[in-house]
Amino acid sequence: MRTEVAIIGAGPAGLLLSHLLARAGIESVVLETRSQEYVASRIRAGILEHSSVELLTEAGLGGRLRAEGHEHRGIYLQWPHERHHLDFVDLTGRSVWVYGQTEVQKDLVAARAAGGQAVLYETSDTRLHDLETDRPYVTYVDAGGVARRLDAAVVAGCDGSFGPSRAAVPPQAHQTFERTYPYSWLGILADVAPSTDELIYAWHPDGFALHSMRSPTVSRLYLQVPNGTDVAGWSDARIWDELAGRLGHGQDGWTLTPGPITDKSVLPMRSLVQSPMRHGRLFLAGDAAHIVPPTGAKGLNLAIADVALLSRALTALLRDGDAGPAERYSDDALRRVWRCTHFSWWMTTMLHASGDPFDAQLQLSQLRWVTTSPAGAAGLAENYAGLPIAG
Ligand SMILES: Cc1cc2nc3c(=O)[nH]c(=O)nc-3n(C[C@H](O)[C@H](O)[C@H](O)COP(=O)(O)OP(=O)(O)OC[C@H]3O[C@@H](n4cnc5c(N)ncnc54)[C@H](O)[C@@H]3O)c2cc1C
Repeated sequence: MRTEVAIIGAGPAGLLLSHLLARAGIESVVLETRSQEYVASRIRAGILEHSSVELLTEAGLGGRLRAEGHEHRGIYLQWPHERHHLDFVDLTGRSVWVYGQTEVQKDLVAARAAGGQAVLYETSDTRLHDLETDRPYVTYVDAGGVARRLDAAVVAGCDGSFGPSRAAVPPQAHQTFERTYPYSWLGILADVAPSTDELIYAWHPDGFALHSMRSPTVSRLYLQVPNGTDVAGWSDARIWDELAGRLGHGQDGWTLTPGPITDKSVLPMRSLVQSPMRHGRLFLAGDAAHIVPPTGAKGLNLAIADVALLSRALTALLRDGDAGPAERYSDDALRRVWRCTHFSWWMTTMLHASGDPFDAQLQLSQLRWVTTSPAGAAGLAENYAGLPIAG
């Protein structure tokens, strides 16, 4: 089989890239190792920044997002006995939207199906070849067990943190920057109306907690837990008790309403950047190139921003014969990646308990500054609501 762009991975990065390329008249084939149902049901990110919403809307994917998503003006930051609201719209003129990654994925799958896109699910043994030539190809085994070869002008590695694309770049041709954190998040989904109108980020000496949501009837909450935590040790009652304590149940009349928990998982926290994001005719995008801890709500937004740049670069390369934007893709994308990597690290280290009393005082000092200084508040707001995609 031959196509213009072989896309590995049918997560948000891969499907959005195929969608944007198709709008520019460029053909692609998407290979995905999991089933369509599995990819569609993965519960992950839930916050879209301003630029992501604009891009999805311009790409014709904003209908359900704007009808069923919820626009938030800002977030709450709190610590014991104090809660402050940061209004991003007042501070920067930009808002964020609550719209689950599962919904983004559904919209992308529907748009690609309507466009007749070839998405090959349940493939295995994906291997990348001849990336340093202008005739790269990918071999794989299809869902029926038949070995196949896909020839392309370009390979887009959109296969997340465990896919083969990142590893296909030879060790001497890249650098990996990495930070692991000594804590994880225990995340739950609960069939209960959120107890807050906007997200609450709570610093607490027992550990960070976050009250987020997916819809008016579904809440998403997180607790900082030690690495290696087994969810089996966390009963529903223990989780709600711990959330109530850390989120300040009873503080100034605020109450946390518990409800049936429908999903529990533990998410380790790490930062990783592989640089450059291009090797010959292989271009990396999304989690294939970088991972951020979820505290800054940046993972999905970075994947969207990478793909916006990459689709423009590949259009210039394959339609106009202009290799300039493709040559600059890695540098352009990495500028934003490092800004978001810093912001995610900064939010993470400001809000998670380390057990060190000196750290705790620094964190509280920083939180007081961010919530009382217009300059401090604007800095957080500008990064959280997101920088323009070209920036
Ligand atoms: C458990 C979890 C929770 C998260 N929570 C949040 C959150 O709360 N907030 C936030 O902002 N971000 C969160 N993230 C991050 C966010 O979900 C990712 O940044 C986002 O999914 C990146 O999209 P992507 O398309 O680059 O990668 P992915 O969504 O990982 O998609 C990559 C795809 O490639 C496929 N693939 C892998 N190997 C192969 C192969 N060999 N051949 C073909 N296909 C392959 C995978 O099956 C997958 O479908 C979370 C991530 C995880 C893992």
